[in-house]
This record gives sequence, structure tokens and C-alpha cells, in this order.
Amino acid sequence: MTSTVPDLSSAELELAVTGPVFCAGDPGLDTEVAPFTTTHTPAPAVVVGATCPADVAATVRWAAERGLSVAVQATGHGLTSALTGAVLVTTSRLDEVTVDPVARTARVGAGVRWRAVIDAAAPHGLAPLSGSSSHVGAVGYTLGGGLGPLARRHGFAADHVRSAEIVTGDGEIRTVDAVSDPELFWALRGGKGSFGVVTALEFDLVPVARLYGGGVFFPGSATRDLLHAYREWAPTLPEETTTSIAVLRLPPDPALPEPLRGQTVVHLRVAHLGDAAEGAALVAPMRAVAPALLDALGEMPFGAVDAIHMDPTDPMPTYDRGTLLRELTAETVDALLSAAGPEVEVPLVLAELRHLGGAVGRAPAVPNAVVGRDAAFSFWVLGPMFPPVAAVVPAVVDAVVASLAPWSTGHSLLNFAGAVTGAQVAALWDETDRRRLLAVKRRVDPAGLFTHGHVVG
Ligand SMILES: Cc1cc2nc3c(=O)[nH]c(=O)nc-3n(C[C@H](O)[C@H](O)[C@H](O)COP(=O)(O)OP(=O)(O)OC[C@H]3O[C@@H](n4cnc5c(N)ncnc54)[C@H](O)[C@@H]3O)c2cc1C
Repeated sequence: MTSTVPDLSSAELELAVTGPVFCAGDPGLDTEVAPFTTTHTPAPAVVVGATCPADVAATVRWAAERGLSVAVQATGHGLTSALTGAVLVTTSRLDEVTVDPVARTARVGAGVRWRAVIDAAAPHGLAPLSGSSSHVGAVGYTLGGGLGPLARRHGFAADHVRSAEIVTGDGEIRTVDAVSDPELFWALRGGKGSFGVVTALEFDLVPVARLYGGGVFFPGSATRDLLHAYREWAPTLPEETTTSIAVLRLPPDPALPEPLRGQTVVHLRVAHLGDAAEGAALVAPMRAVAPALLDALGEMPFGAVDAIHMDPTDPMPTYDRGTLLRELTAETVDALLSAAGPEVEVPLVLAELRHLGGAVGRAPAVPNAVVGRDAAFSFWVLGPMFPPVAAVVPAVVDAVVASLAPWSTGHSLLNFAGAVTGAQVAALWDETDRRRLLAVKRRVDPAGLFTHGHVVG
């Protein structure tokens, strides 16, 4: 067994935990750490496949005694670096999903993907505030805010967290809620992995069984008209309607429906909490802008929510960045078209506007550290990190975001901020909240063990 830590030490770790321990070269390591976002190949010093909170606590103590940093991974949808030299806790075995249909809550382990929560909640007519893809991890998503298709009616996922079970920098397992530690509870919900390894979350479910939703694909030739129509249309929608619109440069993939293959298209995504007649009437102005290539809007069970965004499910290397927009004016749309519209040759996969406002614009009953309440739209742009375009993608993506700077709040939702860490993450908050987050970080992680991924520093 080859390892960057002494064998004796990892043997001690193996004795201290019940889950498997992997060092460099061990069979099964590559599968254990395989991320969804393959831009980086994880190269931690040692990996612990935690099976219980006590495994996480023992791992954190073991790392702290040796001065090693600690990282955490559920699905690798948000992998931001190679995690070089870290002690990595993988959470896939923390797979508890318990639904309380009377209290309308769920308790989920750190390794649970949204699909498992959606399926457990559906028989009770309930739904979680999951996002565009049910393959994403529920805990990482929620700690980063969590903006999904029910957001304008119900807010960010983080707004509905009731309590968190977390292992902090001292290796203690704590249950944190609004009463036990109000500052840490505020910071955790929005401040993501900064404060420790969350082993489970308890959060509210909402009474949603069905909705009117899905997507409409339009030809790229109509992009200008569609984006200008969208900026006028979206602000007229009720809170029951959450929408986004994306310019997609699709690959010539045979798995895609024929009219979309290899095309630049505009994808309007809709989730309306109401019946089909009401939903169709609301969407009519957008349907009238151009003939659709594919119109897949209709009544659906919440379980079919992935059909709204149709996110990819196969791992791929990407570079992404986001920005929050105060307003979406005609000039903003023109700037976006000049930087990322179909007439420009740029190696991008997606340039997406998500409509905010409604419940995401209001502070929740128990305030939290989620950014973006003051924004009207969230913008996310993503390019493929394949050769040969990988050499230019980061500059192209950064330039698209820069072109929207005149309308930006200067911040981004943490989940759409891309591969940023430390001071770049801290810069997402205003001065007051940044100081507050850093004060909590210093208290619960004084040695600075949690330095990988979306952590403030
Ligand atoms: C295809 C796709 C679709 C997406 N759709 C949405 C969307 O609709 N809305 C939205 O808000 N976001 C969305 N995201 C962003 C996503 O929510 C974040 O990348 C999130 O961090 C993924 O969490 P994960 O656990 O699946 O990923 P991982 O890569 O396993 O974790 C990412 C980071 O989350 C933190 N984290 C994860 N688990 C824990 C834990 N147990 N304790 C402490 N910190 C932890 C850590 O900082 C970690 O580095 C999407 C991302 C992708 C790739």
C-alpha cells in the first residue's frame, strides 16, 4: 500500500472508524472518490468512507492531530479542486432518509441524493425543495442555499432547515438549531462546508404532489426575441411560477431528441403550482414568440421534476461561474447576446438566467446566511473543459460574467459561484455578514481544518 501518510497512522485510523479507509493505490479508491464534475481528479492523502457520525468525528480528530486538512464529498457535483493532501470524508454510506408525514419534515444523511428524498416524500403528497437535478446531493445543495423549481413560492432550501447534525473542528458531534447555537445555525445555512462536516439535516417538506411544468426548446435563431420577451414576461408572473431560460449549445449526442442534436437552442423552463389551464395561459406569451422545436410542458407529478431542466446525468469536466443581477434590462440582454448569444463562436454549454424574487427575496422565519435576496435574477454560465477548448474556456466564461458586471450585485449564489474558495467565497457576502461568518468559522474551526471546497476564509 502506497500512501502520503505513514502506514502506522492510517492503521490507527482504520481502527478508529467502522467504514473503509483508502490510501493512494488502494483498490476501490477511484470509484470511492469519482466525482460528477471531472475537471479535477481527486488526490486526497487518505479517504474515509464514513458509515456513521462517529466515523466522521474520529476522522476529524485524527486529521487534527496530524495537522491535515479535512474535505467532504457526497456526489462530486461541486468539486472545486483536486483536494490534494486532504483527509477526505466520503458520505455516500450516510444514506438515511426518514420522512415524518405529520410534521412534514425529512431527516436525511449527508450522502443522500435528492432522488431518494423525492421518492420517500411523494407517497405523502409532499416534496423537498430540491433543485434542477435529483442526482445532486441534498446536503451540499442545501448548505449552499439551494435554488430549485419551487423557489419563488417556497424560498431557498436552506430557509427550511430545522436542524443540522455536524462534526466541528474539535471532532465533537453537535446538533445545531435556532436555539442551541443561533450563530452557527445562521452561518451553516448558506455558508456551506465552512464549519465542519454535516452528517445529517432535518428540513421541511412542502405539500406539492403535482405541478404544471417542463421545458420548451426554441431554435437558436429566435434567441434575441426570446430573451427580450423573457425579461418583460418573467416579472409579471405570480410567486407560484418559477422559471428560467438558458441558451444551450448541445452536442451531436444520439441520446438527444433529433431536433436538438448538435444545435444551439433556447430552453425555457417552467414550474407552476397550479392547474394546466392556468399554467398554459401564463406561458402563452412566451410560446407566441417563436415556433417551438420541442414543447414538453404539461401537468406532471413532482417526481418527474428532472424533466424541467433536463440536466445532464453523465459526469463531465466543466468550468462555471455565476453572478447575481439587480435587474435585467434591454441593455443587459444585449450584453448577454454579444458575449454568449448564438451568433458568437464561444465554447460554452450553458448560459442561464433564473428568475428570483417572491419567497427567495424575503428573509426566512429564522434568518440565515444565504446571499441573493436583493437580486432579481441569477446568471450561471458553464463551459466544457475538454481539449482543445479547455485552454480558453475559463477566460471565455469569466468574460461573459464580466460583460454583465454593470447589472450585477457584485455577488453570486454560492452554489453557482464555480471553483472558488477561501477569500473568494467570503467576498460573496457584504462586510457585515462576512465578518459574522468568519467569527463563527474561527470559533468552530480554530485550526482551519476545513479549507477545501466552498469554505469561507
Ligand atoms: C448538474 C448540476 C445541477 C445543479 N443544480 C442546482 C440547482 O438547481 N440549484 C442549486 O442551488 N445548485 C445546483 N447545483 C449546484 C450544487 O447544488 C452544488 O454543486 C452542491 O455543492 C452539490 O453538492 P453535492 O454534495 O452533490 O456535491 P459535492 O461535490 O459532493 O460537494 C460539494 C461541496 O458541498 C459541501 N458539502 C457537501 N456535503 C457536505 C457535508 N456533508 N458537510 C459539509 N459540507 C458539505 C462541501 O463544500 C463540498 O465541497 C447544480 C450542480 C450541478 C453540477
